[in-house]
Amino acid sequence: MTEAGSGIRIGLCGGTFDPFHRGHVEPVRAIFESMEWTTVVYVPAWAQPFKTGHTTSSPYHRHAMTVLGTIEDPRLEVSLVELEKECVSYTVETLRHFRSLHPQSTLDWIIGDDNLEKLLEWKSLDEIFELANFAVLTRLGPPARLDPALRRRVCPVQDRTTAGAIVFAENEALAVSSTRIRELVRTTGSAGDLLQPVVAEYINRSGLYRMTT
Ligand code: ATP
Repeated sequence: MTEAGSGIRIGLCGGTFDPFHRGHVEPVRAIFESMEWTTVVYVPAWAQPFKTGHTTSSPYHRHAMTVLGTIEDPRLEVSLVELEKECVSYTVETLRHFRSLHPQSTLDWIIGDDNLEKLLEWKSLDEIFELANFAVLTRLGPPARLDPALRRRVCPVQDRTTAGAIVFAENEALAVSSTRIRELVRTTGSAGDLLQPVVAEYINRSGLYRMTT
């Protein structure tokens, strides 16, 4: 899709959010204006193709944590579209949904750069590029590896159109992952400042992650 579009730019961020943490929200808020987003929608997955069997808290808790972690910023929303399907979520299906709602808008599927290595394995990747761009956030770790087959899609943020590109956001990396938080809560009872206080309180009150491996 290469038409000029509506001028509306929507960021979409899928994940298991098990739990939702500062790394999910702070980089997005930091680049919100430079990406010229109108809104960013978080899309908790019922289950992810690459993570089946890995989630340790229920979709209801993961949805609640995502809502709590975004509620203070009116630019951020949470979608139920994948949770309501109650099955493994494929990004291409989710993007068809958002594209039907926003036929003329720029859609940016936000991912951390840890996703780049497996990007070619995503279901219907060609169709995904017809539906949206990828906006890639830097995480701490080895430099992101992008398959040479995808390099022609890389372009500066301001040059992207409504779909089809890969853009690298210039965010400050935040060394936090849900895996690390689950481990910290299980072993020490607390994840320190890796979580927003309201999410930490929810985890504490709900007794999440204490008994998981
Ligand atoms: P886990 O440790 O359980 O694999 P995670 O911390 O990677 O989880 P996800 O729910 O899988 O969290 O992440 C959703 C999206 O947010 C993914 O695209 C992921 O790469 C991205 N993301 C997660 N943490 C960060 C971070 N610290 N900085 C930038 N992006 C992040």
